[in-house]
Amino acid sequence: MHRVDVTPEALHLRGALRRRTLYFEELAAVSAEADRLRLALHDGEAVTIRLADGEAGRLAAEVGAVLAPADVAADVPALRATVEAQAARRGFAAAPFVEGLLRSAAALGASDLHAQPDLAGGHALTLRVDGVVHALGTLERGRALRVIGRLKILAGVQVHRDDVPQEGRAPLPGGSGGFVRLGFAPGVGGEAVTIRLFDRLKGEARLADLGFSAAVQAGLDALLGAPHGVLLFAGPSASGKTTTLYTALRALLARAEGTRRALTVEDPVEYRLPGVVQLEPDPGRGLAGADLLRAALRQDADVLVVGEARDAESVALMLRAGLTGHLVLGTVHAGNAAEAWARLQELGAEPAVLGRAVRGILAQRLVRRRCCPAGCPACDHTGYRGRIALGELRTPDDAWLAGAPRDDALRADAARLLAAGLTDAAEVERVLGR
Ligand SMILES: [Zn+2]
Repeated sequence: MHRVDVTPEALHLRGALRRRTLYFEELAAVSAEADRLRLALHDGEAVTIRLADGEAGRLAAEVGAVLAPADVAADVPALRATVEAQAARRGFAAAPFVEGLLRSAAALGASDLHAQPDLAGGHALTLRVDGVVHALGTLERGRALRVIGRLKILAGVQVHRDDVPQEGRAPLPGGSGGFVRLGFAPGVGGEAVTIRLFDRLKGEARLADLGFSAAVQAGLDALLGAPHGVLLFAGPSASGKTTTLYTALRALLARAEGTRRALTVEDPVEYRLPGVVQLEPDPGRGLAGADLLRAALRQDADVLVVGEARDAESVALMLRAGLTGHLVLGTVHAGNAAEAWARLQELGAEPAVLGRAVRGILAQRLVRRRCCPAGCPACDHTGYRGRIALGELRTPDDAWLAGAPRDDALRADAARLLAAGLTDAAEVERVLGR
């Protein structure tokens, strides 16, 4: 007869046949048959142990609970409860914990997950949904290290290094076709991990779902039918401009029914698109963004997505592409359309060239959508759930070039959302300022 002790990290098997420790990470499955406990390992090995009456069933249930992937949480409070339960229970396996966390984050529409060292030596887990950070709970040091180790394996980075910044990418579990980008940074008191979610299903919104006014939608629709010229998507970080760009690209390609060939240069490629050639700069291999852009210009593409215009060379190439028969979609980091226009001039573009190449600029922001008056579990008692876009669409012949008031158009569009009760004044003020 043998004995099994369950500790938070492992099973200790003692007996005549076996004298060893099995970590939860090694176990693929567990089952009980009468007085035997059967443990299947990931490496293909199986361990069978005879136990006293009733022990096999009890242990199989206990270990099975540790190995089972957590349910996908329906809301933030449910995910918080899951994290707290996992942090407190006797046994812990990092792989199912991480899978449950990623699947739940995707289901909740989160943009980011973070694990950061806290003063007690553990790691605090937080989730960003609709631009707002929610605390999920804390893992003590041993469990946090195993979770970070598991994330490093998924990211394909060096597991034993915690003293250098590392970056990697992994598929999002759950079969949505999305992925996560993982960043590991050495910090005081431990490593900080940032996980950005790119959920392909989320990226498949239709233009009509984004929340723009009918006028902006119609204007954008018309611009997407243009044979050539530059169409810019402007906004600060996390204003939703990249999502809008891809939604527009998808709409354009669907409408073209295969008659327009698209090519993208992106750093990094955020959404994979069927039937589109996507190029990603790789400085390690001497492939800079501008080199790829130049190569893209020589390819037989009708539609070019050039990512963010952030230096003089890429702006010049983007404008040249727009003037030589391509429809070019790009983003600019700017608060509104007038600022985007000024930004391109700061980056060396001549106003006359801009006027000929640029067909339109869509500046936007995301505001949180009202969920309920007082807060419910679905919105984690914040009163908001999901986000909607407000936008300003300008074409170079608009009078705004002569110095129109700057944020008026965005504020006017916010008033539309307020009048419809879709958001509230506090949220508009948070996003646009007073
Ligand atoms: Zn609510």
